Parts: sequence; structure tokens; C-alpha cells
Amino acid sequence: MVEDQLTLAEAKEKLAIRQAQLKKWAVEYYQNDAPTVEDSDYDLVYQEVIDLEYQFPELITPDSITQKVGDQTKDDLPKVEHLQPMLSLGDVFSIEALDDWMNTMQQSTSDFLEYNAELKIDGLAISLQYTNGQLTQASTRGNGQIGEDVTANVLNIKNIPHQLTEPLNLEVRGEIYMPKAAFVSLNEQRDRDGLAPFANPRNAAAGSLRQLDPQITKQRQLAGFIYQVVDLQNQLEVKTQSELLIRLANLGLPVNLTNQVVDNINTLKNYIEEKTAKRDDLAYGIDGIVVKVNNLDLHEALGATVKVPKWAIAYKFPAEEKQTILKDIEWTV
Ligand code: NAD
Repeated sequence: MVEDQLTLAEAKEKLAIRQAQLKKWAVEYYQNDAPTVEDSDYDLVYQEVIDLEYQFPELITPDSITQKVGDQTKDDLPKVEHLQPMLSLGDVFSIEALDDWMNTMQQSTSDFLEYNAELKIDGLAISLQYTNGQLTQASTRGNGQIGEDVTANVLNIKNIPHQLTEPLNLEVRGEIYMPKAAFVSLNEQRDRDGLAPFANPRNAAAGSLRQLDPQITKQRQLAGFIYQVVDLQNQLEVKTQSELLIRLANLGLPVNLTNQVVDNINTLKNYIEEKTAKRDDLAYGIDGIVVKVNNLDLHEALGATVKVPKWAIAYKFPAEEKQTILKDIEWTV
């Protein structure tokens, strides 16, 4: 939606209000692990900000929510500086927008492009450092530059190997999530203990990983999926994202191998429809499909904005149940 009737002053005021609202929700979601609105509501207001900034680029400031990886660190957890920033993903909400994105990618190269389509796991991002094949550090995304050191906690996650099958020095990234069954039993236990339930498995996973006591993480039955290597430098001898996933699995890492290589929007649409239909049967939550240019050399060539890589996009599933909260907010513009 383009706000073509607004003056610059009106747009500025409207942006300030939307940004303040989004920042409040971001604190609830990232810092307190306790969101008060649905992700789809957040995404709608975020999209409004993107549209306003598109129409009034002079109003974009470095502290805009669109210019930062949206996350926060807890004061009481030790910090880790990421050697390469941990980024977010750009969003699309329709097949048409996905098709446009693929066309833009295709314009960047004369090679005919393939894409790797993957499930978008609804958890929180993790970085794992292996030294000589041994897990030596685990950190959260934090603000993208500085994350939280959660090594002791991750050592308590059963499907994250302490040792790779080869003595490699490797930083891998992926997602920590809480399986649906673990989420249900955790909230039942919290109810018995008189504690507030977690809003959803994503926030339960974040709350369970970012604990000072690793024993709490151990009880929470978290799990992980790994999908990326930092500074690949081809030490793994792979050329594509789809080959990388298999290589990571062979190193003993947990990898979600429900991915599919596609080279046109129709095949991708079929993949999305198939995964959407089976979504409820999965043991873990997904909130969309991530589409990545398959050729890894192009990842470096295409690069990233301050917030998102250009070689990947998230297709977000439509909201299952629309909330009414947005119309209840008293926007003043
Ligand atoms: P995001 O969760 O939409 O997507 C980026 C993340 O996807 C990556 O950082 C990575 O951790 C993850 N991911 C999962 N599977 C992946 C895969 N196969 N390949 C690559 N990455 C994968 O973006 P975000 O910046 O983490 O969070 C923003 C979103 O969080 C918003 O769009 C909104 O939906 C939600 N949010 C909600 C509230 C709220 O109050 N409800 C507040 C803030 C943010």
C-alpha cells in the first residue's frame, strides 16, 4: 500500500508512531520472550513502515526498525561478538512477490538460476563454533553483531553433537526450536506450577535457551536444525546450498532434509502448497518457506543489506487466525 496522500510531516509523524509500537512489541518478543500480539500483526505494521520509507526515503534513519536486526541481548548473559553478522531474512507474503524476487535474482547473473527451498523453522537463530571438530562455543543472534554466550546450555541439547565426524574448524548456523509435544507438556507443567504459559513454541524455545542455569535448558527438550556455514572458503568442497545440507548431515549435524531444488515458480508453488498442507503433521513449528539461491558462489557476490542477505527470502505463511488487536490500537495518524 502506498501512502500517496500524506505530506512529509504527516508521514514523519505516522512513522514515529508505528516505529515506537514495533519497538515495544520487539522488546516483548525478543527480550521478554512474551509477545502480546500475533506475528502477522507485527508483520502488517512492519510492512506499513516499509511502504512509508519507500515513499519517503528521506525519513529512513539508522535506528529505524527496518535497518537493524531485531533482537536484544539479556544483561545477565555473557556476550559474544559475531565475526560475521547474523542477519534476518527479507519477507514476502504472496507467490507473486516470490516470483518478482526470483526475477530480480535472475537479473543478477547470466547463468540460469536454481533455488533451494527449505522449511522456515520457527525457533531462534544459533551459531555453533566447532574447533578441531569439538563444539567450543554457541551463541544467539542478539543484535546481529553481539550475541549471548549459551554454550553450556547448548551442550545440553541432545541432537546438537559435541563432536563432528571430522576434525574441522567450522562456524555453522541454524535454528533452535522446541518440538510441539515438548511445548504442550511444558505449558501443562507451568499451569500446575501456577506460572504463566509461554505464548508459542518459538518464545518457549528462546526462553528455555537463554537461561543462566543450563539444567533448565536440559529439562526443556530443545532441538536444532543446522543450515548454514560461515566463511565456507570451500573447505567442505560443496558448490550449492542443497549439497551443503547433505555435507552438514554427514558431519553429524541435525539437518532438515525436506528441502527441494527448484528452478521455476510453479515447482516452488507446488512445494509450498505441499509443505503448507503437511504443516500441522510436523513435530515442530514452521512459519514459512525459505528460498535460497542454490549456487553458493553467488551468495558472496550478491551480498547483503544491513539487515538481510540478498540471496535468500522468506515466504511467510498467511496467518492462521486473524487477531483484532490492530484495529483496537488508537493510532493517532
Ligand atoms: P524471521 O524470523 O522472520 O526470519 C529470519 C530468521 O529465520 C533467521 O534469522 C533464522 O533464524 C530463521 N530461519 C528459520 N529457518 C531458516 C532456514 N531454513 N534458513 C535460514 N533461516 C532460517 O526474522 P526475525 O528478524 O528473526 O524476526 C522478525 C519476525 O519476528 C517478524 O517478521 C515477526 O513475525 C516476528 N516478531 C514478532 C513480534 C510479536 O510481537 N509477535 C515482535 C517482533 C518480531
